[in-house]
Amino acid sequence: MLETICDILVDAYKRNWITSRDGNISIRHHDRDHFYITPSGVRKQTLQPDQFKKIGIKDDWYFEMPYTDISAQLKPSGEIPLHFGLQKRLGQHKDEVRVVVHVHPTYCVAAMHAGIQLSELVKDFPELGRYTKVANNVGDVPPISHELANQCFKNLELDDNGFINYDIVGIKGHGVVAIDTSPWRAYEHIERLEHICKIVLASGKHK
Ligand SMILES: [Zn+2]
Repeated sequence: MLETICDILVDAYKRNWITSRDGNISIRHHDRDHFYITPSGVRKQTLQPDQFKKIGIKDDWYFEMPYTDISAQLKPSGEIPLHFGLQKRLGQHKDEVRVVVHVHPTYCVAAMHAGIQLSELVKDFPELGRYTKVANNVGDVPPISHELANQCFKNLELDDNGFINYDIVGIKGHGVVAIDTSPWRAYEHIERLEHICKIVLASGKHK
């Protein structure tokens, strides 16, 4: 699974959804009290599974666990408050893996910049809603902040039992966060929303 996450970040880089050091992904198996997250400051084109950080979950805090020698030299992604908050609560009720993907897809970010509410797109493009439930946009919040994390939890309607009502949320002036049971499934939510945003912007018919 960590290799798949590396493949996804290479793909995201090729699509211009991130620059070299952007983007972060975490993964947790429901029955484990730890998760893996991409390290900070590593070029995503060359990311390797042994560079991930292993993060322990203990009640309301997290701590770094030993993983590999190379991982020990690295820091976890700056967006760890977002990933920790989600991974702590997600998946505890199901026999599943949970993957949280954060990238900066060009047309999703452009659409929000143009004032489009991503959750409204399903009205004109119903196919989108068949597979991907889009939350209301998170407004202007600073990157790697607790505020960003908390706003994402709120808009995804994350509850204490680890349920969410949406698969993806956009953050204005920044990017998106998508969640699912495998890296590619989470990625496909982004791909679907990005495709619709590209169509809408190409049409020139957005308000
Ligand atoms: Zn970001």
